[in-house]
Amino acid sequence: METNPCNNPVNAGFKIPDRVSRNTKPEETIVNIAGVEVGGTEIVVIAGPCAVESREQLFETARAVKSGGARILRGGAFKPRSSPYNFQGLGEEGLKLLDIIRSETGLPVVTEVMDTRQVELVSGYADMLQVGSRNMQNYPLLKEVGMCRKPVLLKRGMMATIEEFLLAAEYILNQGNEQVILCERGIRTFETSTRNTLDLSAVPMLKRLSHLPVIVDPSHGTGLRWMVPAMAKAAVAVGADGLIMEVHYHPEEAICDGNQSLNISEFDQLMTDLKKIALAIGREIS
Ligand code: PEP
Ligand code: MN
Repeated sequence: METNPCNNPVNAGFKIPDRVSRNTKPEETIVNIAGVEVGGTEIVVIAGPCAVESREQLFETARAVKSGGARILRGGAFKPRSSPYNFQGLGEEGLKLLDIIRSETGLPVVTEVMDTRQVELVSGYADMLQVGSRNMQNYPLLKEVGMCRKPVLLKRGMMATIEEFLLAAEYILNQGNEQVILCERGIRTFETSTRNTLDLSAVPMLKRLSHLPVIVDPSHGTGLRWMVPAMAKAAVAVGADGLIMEVHYHPEEAICDGNQSLNISEFDQLMTDLKKIALAIGREIS
């Protein structure tokens, strides 16, 4: 008897790219980020500030998310801001801060790379490279991170279909790098009450079509701090392999994305609630 419906040959209504397809590789891919495995039974929580702003902000937030149960630290050093006049990130100084707090906490680090010219620098510090929503179809960048031997967190383009998302991942695998995590982070729709429309149906769809792990970003997916816990819990319930969430020690003072960042006690409470949901579906959160 077939127990895992994901193992049936699937038809998506489009040609599923070969390397990412479950038809080519039925078993789950497990991505290993400096010892933390994503895609197994554990649901991995990635947390930290939108941007690295200062030593104190990063270190205090990192220590707090570590004690709350986060397994990987996030923090942008190179930020893709809509306005060129907004804070663009601390650059290499931010990467150095991430490196120091990684040694102290033991948390592997994921940080964004925006340009092919930054891949060498960023991969010298990061345990996982983030390709952001705005760059999901930056094909030279996808090829470059595909040639790199670091895991890649690929965020869905805000106007990308599932087919385009999988094709973007295929670019990375095609260069020989199979360590790719797909991240649903909300898409643009006619709706304006949320920052984006978090497409949770993408999770079971991607899990069915592909062997790659799938995680959800309810912070960018909603833009609303109060809604993040509800959507994080829903994401775990629909089968996400992990979450990436923005957490800030003082969200009201954040330079970027404070409105969607959880404070420390909200994060701690959410982790307690997520553990119960994970347990109910036969998974675990450390
Ligand atoms: C981020 O994670 O900080 C970010 C900019 O996300 P996205 O690319 O999904 O907008
Ligand atoms: Mn952000």
